Amino acid sequence: MMTPATAVGTQPPADLSMNETPYPPLPGVRRVVEDAAATLQRYPDRLSSALVAALSARLGVGPEAILVGPGSAGLCQHLVQSLGPRPDVVHPALSFEGYPLIIGNAGARAVPVPMDGYGHDLPAMADAVTDRTRCVLLCNPNNPTGAALRRDDVEAFLDRIPADVPVIVDEAYREFVTDPRSPDGMDLYRAYDNVCVLRTFSKAYGLAALRVGYAVVPPRLTRAAALTGAVFFPSALAQAAAVASLTPEVGAELSRRCAELVAARTGLIGALRGLGLTVAPSEANFVWLPLGERAVPFAERAREAGILVMALPGAGVRITVGSPEANERLCAFVRAALADGL
Ligand code: PMP
Repeated sequence: MMTPATAVGTQPPADLSMNETPYPPLPGVRRVVEDAAATLQRYPDRLSSALVAALSARLGVGPEAILVGPGSAGLCQHLVQSLGPRPDVVHPALSFEGYPLIIGNAGARAVPVPMDGYGHDLPAMADAVTDRTRCVLLCNPNNPTGAALRRDDVEAFLDRIPADVPVIVDEAYREFVTDPRSPDGMDLYRAYDNVCVLRTFSKAYGLAALRVGYAVVPPRLTRAAALTGAVFFPSALAQAAAVASLTPEVGAELSRRCAELVAARTGLIGALRGLGLTVAPSEANFVWLPLGERAVPFAERAREAGILVMALPGAGVRITVGSPEANERLCAFVRAALADGL
């Protein structure tokens, strides 16, 4: 019997399971991190002053509205913690697998609201809000299904949410959204004074290893959140890399990369559908195959073929849009697996 190692030969696995960018760090950003390594003995700037200033200039909000933290997941956790003491956090399900954990770690109770197809059921989420609700999480576009929220729907939803219940819009994959009907969280932030926007440098910016994310939060809420996360500021290397990533030159190159990735996404969706699979429309850097009970066998077969994907048992498989070679390898695997009766 062939072992997986023999089956895939000497090729390293194609990891399409973590929604990472396929691109290497930009040379200018990498250099900044290498330079910052010369002062590893020093603590980072506890206030992340340079990064907060750069974000403030970029987003057109005062520094008092900005929080930075160790990845958007870490920041989300201390934000949710700081919004207590009400117990409940309403969130979509199927969505980011980290939410139940984040909510539990923050000492809150998860109130999952099932999806409407691939997207959030916003009316049901509004119905789930009570006087016990600490905050609401929205994921736009949604991980793992890739669906983007529509501006009209989100506004109708926000109009129903009490002003003292914060709504955290998680935009981890915002840079990959091309649907003009999907709202920019910053516009929502300006229009509603209970909206918080959560973003990350992990995905489009390609800094996942450094752990740095940010939130734009109504200033009345930032003080408690900053105190909750007081010891969790991003490392000096992360701060330096994030600041370097916000320069116009780097921004232009990142936009080019995002456009290339979006084109690859369109190609991958078309190719997989052409092979006969159902693929959800995606506004993110991954695609969702609603394979139901076939999800786990699919992922296992893919792993044996040297391709790592994320299976959600009984629901489907999430596959990151990778390099052209990895995407081709995936399609070749799917073609062979389907011919083999998967
Ligand atoms: N939000 C969503 C929707 C995600 O998918 C992820 C990571 N997969 C995160 C937040 C956390 O990302 P990070 O902590 O790296 O910023």
